[in-house]
Amino acid sequence: MAVTAKTPQNPSRHPHLPNILPSKTHKLKTLKKFPHLLKNHQFSLRKPHEAAVLSTASSIDIRDPNSLIRHLCFHGQLRQALKHLESVQELRIPVEEETYIALVSHCEWQREGELGFRVYTCVLSEHARFGIRLGNALLSMFVKVTNLVDAWFVFGKMEERNVFSWNVLVGGYAKGGYFDEALNLYHRMLWAGVKPDVYTFPCILRTCGGVPDLGRGREVHVHVIRHGLGCEVDVVNALITMYVKCGDVGSARLVFDGMTKRDRISWNAMISGYFENGMCREGLELFFTMREVSVVPNLMTMTSVISACELLGDGRLGRVVHGYVARTEFGVDVSVGNSLIKLYSSVGYLEEAEMVFSRMEHKDVVSWTAMISGYEENGLPKKAVETYIRMELEGVMPDEVAIVSVLSACASLGFLDMGIKLHELAKRNGLVSYIIVANALIDLYSKCKCIDKALEVFLRIPRKDVISWTSIIIGLRINNRSLEALAFFRQMKLSLNPNYVTLVAALSACGRIGALMCGKEIHAHALRMGSGFDGILPNAILDMYARCGRMGPASNVFNTHKRDIFSWNILLMGYSQQGQGLLAAELFDRMTKSGVEPEEITFINLLRACSRSGMVTEGLEYFYRMKHKYCVVPNLKHYACVVDLLGRAGQLNDAYEFIQQMPMDPDPAIWGALLNSCRIHRQSELGQIAAQHILEMDELSVGYYTLLCNFYGGDGRWDEVARFRKMMRDKGLTVDPACSWVEVKGTVHAFLSGDDSHPQIQKINAVLEGFYEKMKETGGVGTESSSRNGVEDSKAEVFCGHSERKAIAFGLINTVPGMPISVTKNLYMCESCHNTVKFISKVVRREISVRDTENFHNFKDGVCSCGDEASWKTQLDEIELVKTYQQKQERKIGFLDFPTWEVLNKTVINWGNKTVISWG
Ligand SMILES: [Zn+2]
Ligand SMILES: [Zn+2]
Repeated sequence: MAVTAKTPQNPSRHPHLPNILPSKTHKLKTLKKFPHLLKNHQFSLRKPHEAAVLSTASSIDIRDPNSLIRHLCFHGQLRQALKHLESVQELRIPVEEETYIALVSHCEWQREGELGFRVYTCVLSEHARFGIRLGNALLSMFVKVTNLVDAWFVFGKMEERNVFSWNVLVGGYAKGGYFDEALNLYHRMLWAGVKPDVYTFPCILRTCGGVPDLGRGREVHVHVIRHGLGCEVDVVNALITMYVKCGDVGSARLVFDGMTKRDRISWNAMISGYFENGMCREGLELFFTMREVSVVPNLMTMTSVISACELLGDGRLGRVVHGYVARTEFGVDVSVGNSLIKLYSSVGYLEEAEMVFSRMEHKDVVSWTAMISGYEENGLPKKAVETYIRMELEGVMPDEVAIVSVLSACASLGFLDMGIKLHELAKRNGLVSYIIVANALIDLYSKCKCIDKALEVFLRIPRKDVISWTSIIIGLRINNRSLEALAFFRQMKLSLNPNYVTLVAALSACGRIGALMCGKEIHAHALRMGSGFDGILPNAILDMYARCGRMGPASNVFNTHKRDIFSWNILLMGYSQQGQGLLAAELFDRMTKSGVEPEEITFINLLRACSRSGMVTEGLEYFYRMKHKYCVVPNLKHYACVVDLLGRAGQLNDAYEFIQQMPMDPDPAIWGALLNSCRIHRQSELGQIAAQHILEMDELSVGYYTLLCNFYGGDGRWDEVARFRKMMRDKGLTVDPACSWVEVKGTVHAFLSGDDSHPQIQKINAVLEGFYEKMKETGGVGTESSSRNGVEDSKAEVFCGHSERKAIAFGLINTVPGMPISVTKNLYMCESCHNTVKFISKVVRREISVRDTENFHNFKDGVCSCGDEASWKTQLDEIELVKTYQQKQERKIGFLDFPTWEVLNKTVINWGNKTVISWG
């Protein structure tokens, strides 16, 4: 006999489908009530335990074994009953049909599929065909235990079938998701002349909605009317549901409006139908009508109404609904409370969310999760973590959503230890297999500067999605491993389509290492995908061009895209980086004339541009107008810009006086600006004061040590330089290994200082030696540096690494004469390198640009665009530009909250085996 199989055969193709005639309607309810009929049986007088005593095979009540079996069934002792049945059969005592029905019905009741199948085997040994009652019982049992194959065989062996038999089988197929089979069977039923009833239509309409198949649904609608069931509430409710599932909300509403009598289900079906089809307003209107006619909603209506308010982002309406639900019995329901918390936190009404949460008598994991993610999404990560800890104390186990929310909170707070604990917990509970958890872990480790841990998590994800890839690309980018970020980006594109966040991250990486060709490719890709205008992508493209020093394409993007304040700021940053104060001032003029209100960052870029172009009067004027005309309160960074502006121009005493008159306490960056100016203008006395202040406030930032060494080195005080170098060593401060990138024919090549593993290293060194020889011969600039003592060399090695020289030589070897070379560097360019590159640019007659962390140096014919003295500066960070992206909706892009200064100075990059990584 057939055994259970997962996929039932298509009934329409079954060879044994018999011709059947309609029989008398046998209502489902009769069978459902079957156990109650048994209750009146005489055997029920015997107590259950007595029956148990009798239940061994040797003590069968020979006089009435059938009654005994039914009695055992009735007392729930199904296994005993079955044993009896099998023994009785062995003894060849006839078993009554009624006994079989009792057994089968109880198997159905208790969902004992296996036992049911054993009874079925016994039935088969006695009967070749089944009567309608036994057949229906078997059919119903098999459908209930989802054994559709045997249900189908029973159906075939039935001598006669009634509408119940058909309903059961159609329902079985529909429930199992075999919609086509269910619909075929329905048509066979009609063809066999069986009149469908109130039970048939809801089932078949659900099937039409499940496909969904509006055409057949309409056909069934006609059948409903033809069979005179158009006024049966259950049937009409099913019609409404069918129409909304098929997306025809209009027809659903027509049916709804045409009802003479509606029940709660009708209202719910129509209201949730609107919601399901995204018509939240209409659904809510109907909900209020429902209340007017005093129909009481059920729990599902209430939760879906609250969710609709959330979808609409209508907190005010949410409050009204809350007020209503609070007065009903559902006010205390946990799922209603959970929906309310989600609603309130999604519209930013956190106080209300907290109130609902605190008033909930019973909180489940969903309630806690809703509150935690509510805090997290509303920028309150601390509260999210606190709530999570409370949840743990109450012994509630977090689910994957809770873990993700609290991991995200830890990431923004930099709570690495807690993050690691959560990682361990997720491993123990198997939650780490959820991709959202793994992605959140990548984000956490990246932001906590444990990029290797992030990579570990990433590599373990079996099926990485776009978010996994995007997270690791962002992670590599913010951990100063932009070249690898681009390699991952290229790998990702082989299997997945990047989204616009991925593109933003990749563009940012391009900007960091001057990968112009790669950036252009992404720009083209974005245009092809049609996402070139999405969100912050235009600004990211603009930023990439500006950082690569290509102000022409940057202006093009700027002029052709929709601009916001961030776009203006980025372009201003570009001009300030290139020391083009006049262009920056012009742009600022254009900006204010076009009605865009400048903000803090605008002025930082503008002041910096003035400072680098020696525009002291203009700079001071902007500083004044900033406060008095544009009502932007200057912060420490603006003051640092002004100190730099005055200091660079040699007005050192003015700068010092300016610091003393500041309305707030100066920070190390301000003293740093002064110190740097003192270095340029050889003002040792004032410089020492500045140095004193810096060391009092910050003795852990590598950047300030660079500055101090530069200052004392410039003054010839090598003993001091050596002292600071020792201090750094003692404090365990390390400078990132110097790395320079050069893009040749679309491929980025990285050169690390001290790494001689590059295949062309001999050629590169030969080229450089050639230049040094020539420099000596001409007695030109730069010769002095080579004659300096060892301290200078070691200083330069630590703070410059001279890696740009190798990158330039490589560019010269591998490109045609006359072609410009662009190099990007992760540290500052030293004076000696600056002089050397000036010399090279003159000899080879090529334009060479080097972008270090501070400046854009454009060398041409032995002259640098920075005006020589502007290089080797450290004090102003570049955090502002990064901040320009900080738009609320871009929260996902973690690196945008990242202070670049920290990244630049405190991160020790693990360069692994120091091999040259090529992207291409
Ligand atoms: Zn150098
Ligand atoms: Zn320069």
